[in-house]
Amino acid sequence: MTTIKKVTVLGTGVLGSQIAFQTAFHGFSVIAYDINSEIIERAKARFAGLAQTYIDEKVAGAADGGSAAALANISYSFELGAAVKDADLVIEVVPENLEVKLEVYTELAKLAPPKTIFATNSSTLLPSAMKDATGRPDRFIALHYANRVWVHNTAEIMGTSATAPAVFQTIVDFATATGMVPIEIKKEHAGYLLNSLLVPFLSAAGDLLVDGIAEPEMVDKTWRIGTGAPLGPFQIFDIVGLKTAYNIAAMNPDPKRQAFAKLLKESYLDQGKLGTSTGEGFYSYPKK
Ligand code: NAD
Repeated sequence: MTTIKKVTVLGTGVLGSQIAFQTAFHGFSVIAYDINSEIIERAKARFAGLAQTYIDEKVAGAADGGSAAALANISYSFELGAAVKDADLVIEVVPENLEVKLEVYTELAKLAPPKTIFATNSSTLLPSAMKDATGRPDRFIALHYANRVWVHNTAEIMGTSATAPAVFQTIVDFATATGMVPIEIKKEHAGYLLNSLLVPFLSAAGDLLVDGIAEPEMVDKTWRIGTGAPLGPFQIFDIVGLKTAYNIAAMNPDPKRQAFAKLLKESYLDQGKLGTSTGEGFYSYPKK
């Protein structure tokens, strides 16, 4: 049981549209907010695409009216005050830039009623870096979704030292009510749980390649047979996308990470090989 009824999602990009749709799919009334009418028009097309994807990928109930009902549960706004005036929960899914997020929270603090809980979907910024701008650190928390939320349905939930325990529990209940698996994180930690495991794992695989120790196929085969995992690290790179892998490696001054970024750029990105999305990455995939 959750006490949350009305949800506003700020940002209708890749993740914001998925979070809004998944929430609406589970019967919540959702306002999708973005900065102008043009982007809102684009968002409507994104939502229509998601409605079809849920049907195509056989999400339970989608074809029996679930997708249509989800679309009907979403309304749209490009006026922040109107979008949040009655929200129980605002999920912030704006670009990964601290300045942008701080501006958004400073405005939100003025416009949202005291009851509203704010949650950030930031992947790399710690909620404590934003908590003071919210004006309500006790009602502020990180709620982190993974791309393709209807399949990879983890919801990593992480408060700061100021988050009220009751708010933490409210978000755990909300996650469950929206078809997510709540991942409760006891202390603030960069990378949450998933990326704390995945990033070092993928980096180690990149090092093996850069150092000329083994080819991707051999690394992946070892991992699959040795652990029983269905995919090796280079197969995972292709799914994550080589542009994202490049961005993460290029940001890191470690010479090994820089060498991996260079390899990704020269051998893959410059040739339009971005992973499964383009049909070519470390492996080739049948065209969709
Ligand atoms: P995106 O660029 O696809 O979308 C961002 C959206 O925010 C755009 O629609 C943009 O118009 C809107 N926006 C810009 N300024 C705004 C403002 N002031 N107020 C409201 N909306 C504003 O980005 P994304 O990939 O959806 O990422 C958004 C957040 O989600 C980031 O914090 C990112 O770390 C996190 N995240 C992304 C992924 C992913 O795979 N893309 C996964 C997990 C978490």
